[in-house]
Amino acid sequence: MKIPICTFDAKTGILCPKCESKLKAGHISKSDVEASMKLVNFVSKHPELDGLSLNRAYEVNGSTVLVLGSTIVSMRREPSWKRKLEEVFGKKVWLLEGDSSDRKILEDLLFPVKILTVNQVWLPDGSRLTKAIIPGRKTERFPVDLNEVKSVVKTVKGIDLLVEFERA
Ligand SMILES: [Zn+2]
Repeated sequence: MKIPICTFDAKTGILCPKCESKLKAGHISKSDVEASMKLVNFVSKHPELDGLSLNRAYEVNGSTVLVLGSTIVSMRREPSWKRKLEEVFGKKVWLLEGDSSDRKILEDLLFPVKILTVNQVWLPDGSRLTKAIIPGRKTERFPVDLNEVKSVVKTVKGIDLLVEFERA
């Protein structure tokens, strides 16, 4: 298992001097440390997830965002893992794959909602928006909180996201 701090530190709950100075210097965050400790504990009870790696963790609007290595395909698509993680973290958990394209990240965040297209839109002032178009129209029971998705991609990837529906 690969995490931002030593596995040993995560197991004992105490940072070694090296990790402590990484935290002080801002190379890792408090969220990284807390998420590492919770994840190591979680994986120790679920050895089938041993290949898991955590790149970074973020707190966004009271939710935890875990940016994982590329070893999480089954975990991402398997709702029960996400539910169990949310029990451990005591809050909503978003799972992202670190090295993905912007589109892939949006697909993960919007899952199970499908995306029609993702475009870059340049504004007159030179700033860039990422526009995702979702097929159909927005229904009352739309399953994803789009404002939260926008906050997550802004925090994690610096993306300014605009979501539109195919039909108004
Ligand atoms: Zn350490």
